This record gives sequence, structure tokens and C-alpha cells, in this order.
Amino acid sequence: MNEKEQMSIFDIAPSEIPLAELPTATSRPRKDKQKDKQKDKQKDKQVAAPLPTLQFDNLDALREAACNCQKCPLAPTRTNVVVERGDRQAKILIIGEAPGEQEDLTGLPFVGKSGQLLDKILASVDIDSNRDVYICNTVKCRPPNNRPPTETETNTCKPYLLEQIRLINPQIILLTGATSLKSILGEKLGITKVRGKWYEWEGRLVMPIFHPSYLLRNQSREEGSPKWLTWQDIKTVKAKYLEILQNAGEQHNQTNALDDEDF
Ligand code: SF4
Repeated sequence: MNEKEQMSIFDIAPSEIPLAELPTATSRPRKDKQKDKQKDKQKDKQVAAPLPTLQFDNLDALREAACNCQKCPLAPTRTNVVVERGDRQAKILIIGEAPGEQEDLTGLPFVGKSGQLLDKILASVDIDSNRDVYICNTVKCRPPNNRPPTETETNTCKPYLLEQIRLINPQIILLTGATSLKSILGEKLGITKVRGKWYEWEGRLVMPIFHPSYLLRNQSREEGSPKWLTWQDIKTVKAKYLEILQNAGEQHNQTNALDDEDF
């Protein structure tokens, strides 16, 4: 879907929004995939052994298990396990990459500069980050020096994420950052190609969006800039969210939406 088509998305019913297709398993030559796998193995020499499926009765039980978890190499260096913030009944789930310094110190996801920007992006369409969404990360413990989590760490922590998704049962999932994109949609997809598109995953609508930290490094609001594109994406998300609320016979609690100039 090009930008022109995306703008016209506001002229049609949200239910008519086309879903993008994920790359199929045959989308790349087999030799390339084997090379990729070898590279991954070299990068991540630790034993990549995903935990068996975890099942919790509720989010409190999940939180307690995660807070005592020692399953991957991130455990010894963390200050806090960063499990969640927001509304556990939310219809929108936002999945980031991993906790940073502020998150590690506070035990809450997306509370540093990136988190503050995420709050503003959501507020620009009158979505409250504590009332209307549930926020978590792909891995729950901070990687040293804010490096990206390894495949081992991501795989080991994934059962917690999958359980969060099952227990929250969101209808919309927003993916920010390469790690969450890969963890949920599977393939290594370029964010500039997939952002703003709806994908269907496990009966839910999933949209990749730019990570707020990327927007902090790209301050332009010119048409076509990452910030401008994010403004289009979040309006698309809001339209879908309102449709879902309407279908459920619920109303959105209006507050004062910020302007896109505010983020
Ligand atoms: S990152 Fe996840 S798997 Fe690793 S120690 Fe923390 S909670 Fe456990």
C-alpha cells in the first residue's frame, strides 16, 4: 500500500482495510536462508533452547514467575524485571524490544525518553497510555549497555510474552522495534516496508510502527518523514480502535487529544 492509498484509508470503513501478506517460507532462496541461520548461530553461540510452553492462571501469577526468573543470561545483571504497565483489560497491546536504563530502575516499560514520546504519540489521538493500552517488552530484563537482546534471550523469554498476549487478549497489537517485529511476525522484515500495514496474527490485527527511539533521532515533521508517517499510522490505529469499541457497544472516554505538533 503506498502513501497515497494509505491516506485514503480514512475514506473507507476500517473493516475494509486490506491486510498485508507476510512473506511465505519460499520467499527467499533456500541457500540464503541456510546462510542466515549459520550467521545467527555464529552471533548467538549460547544454547538457544526456548522454554516449554508456559501457562498461567492470570497476570499476577505470570508477573510473579517472571520476577523470579533466572532462565536466561540477562537475569544476573538486571535491577528489576520489567513486566508490564497499562490496563490489563486493554484492547490495544504495545510490544517493545527490551527494558532500558530507566525501565530497569523503575520496573516499568517505556518510561524513559522513548516512553514519554510514545505517550505523546498515543495522546495525539486521545489514547491514554495507562487507561487504553497495555505495554510490555519482548524480553523482560535489561540487556547490558542497551544492546539488542540475543536470539537465545528472545526465545527464552517468549513464553512470557505469548502468555501476556493470551491473558490480555488484545484485538490490536502494535510492534515497535526489530526484536518485537521478528518475535511476533517471524520473518526479518524491514520496518520501513511494513510499518503502517495491518497483518493478521493469531486472530488479531498487528501493525508494526517505528520505535519511538528512532523518532527521537529523526525530529523532522516534513511530509514523508518518520514522525509524519507515525502520525498517519496512529490515526489509522485510532480509527480501527473506535470501530472495535463501537462493535463491542463501548464508548471511548474522550479527553483532550494533543496535536501531532506535540510529539
Ligand atoms: S529476560 Fe525473560 S527469560 Fe530472561 S531472565 Fe528475564 S524474565 Fe527470564
